[in-house]
Amino acid sequence: MEETIQKLAASRDLDDGELSFVIGTDRFDVELKETADKKRREIYGDSVFIRGLIEFTNYCKNDCFYCGIRHGNKNAERFRLSSDEILECCEEGYPLGFRTFVLQGGEDPFFDDRILCGIVSSIRERFPDCAVTLSVGERSRDSYLELYRAGATRYLLRHETADPVHYGKLHPHVMSSENRKKCLFDLKEIGYQVGSGFMVGSPYQTVRNIISDLRFLQKLDPDMIGIGPYVTHSETPFAGFPSGSAELTLRLLSILRLMFPHALIPATTSLGTVSPTGREDGLRCGANVVMPNLSPVKVRNKYLLYDGKICTGEESAQCVACLDARVRSAGYRISVDRGDVRRDGVTE
Ligand code: SF4
Repeated sequence: MEETIQKLAASRDLDDGELSFVIGTDRFDVELKETADKKRREIYGDSVFIRGLIEFTNYCKNDCFYCGIRHGNKNAERFRLSSDEILECCEEGYPLGFRTFVLQGGEDPFFDDRILCGIVSSIRERFPDCAVTLSVGERSRDSYLELYRAGATRYLLRHETADPVHYGKLHPHVMSSENRKKCLFDLKEIGYQVGSGFMVGSPYQTVRNIISDLRFLQKLDPDMIGIGPYVTHSETPFAGFPSGSAELTLRLLSILRLMFPHALIPATTSLGTVSPTGREDGLRCGANVVMPNLSPVKVRNKYLLYDGKICTGEESAQCVACLDARVRSAGYRISVDRGDVRRDGVTE
């Protein structure tokens, strides 16, 4: 094995110069993939955890320059699911084996604490053996606390880029990297299992930015880490920028597995969008989570953060069957438990 990769696997770290070298070349890719797979199997065996994704609102008050459902895109067809519709998604997902429901949406002021807490507690009451994950952006610490008390125990909030200057190139000035990071530490302090992550190949991104992302993740020490290639949306200010590559995303997935051996890491839909075998390759490179879509088919093609998004036409059962086949073909098996994080072999 290459000495550098051996060092990364043993110490879970490299210095900036070494990281920069490994990120910038394909010469370590085979070793990285094999070492990352060995590490995931040591901790999680061949299990791949499934999360039922429910995209429940594509209204958003923000204007992130890369996002297809940004407030400024007047051509986006907007939708909100009702509480009953969200619960129906869970009803459909439970018999399919889902024990985690991920409620994902834009930053939609309609879903204030009262409404969102009501939805979370209804899901917990009806499905007490299931975890509820929220992915609804930046909110106040008090709001996060209310939602935690209502029964949400996991929260996904990608930091997107840890470098404040790069962050400023991807977002309008009313948003800040500082607040995004504060939200993440608030969530952690409250007791959530926290997920963060970043886009690969976003406009203006440098290798130095990626190293900042890895350093920030070391500081945050999240339970879940989601990365996916930036994928262009034609109705954004970044329409002229190329999408990120599957190759670099896969390399970074392996690096993440070695730096954060316990982490729950999804093989994302965006990776499957830029490469037909992206999700299978992602699993082989260290990812251990897939997130089939449980949203009603009628709204699937409206939640378009980027162009060409896959899996917008299938019913939930078809999505699960397709992913099950993909997971098997990659050499793993879908696990139907809650899939909590395992730190030092202990399931939390
Ligand atoms: S990335 Fe998230 S916060 Fe930004 S515009 Fe899109 S949905 Fe809203």
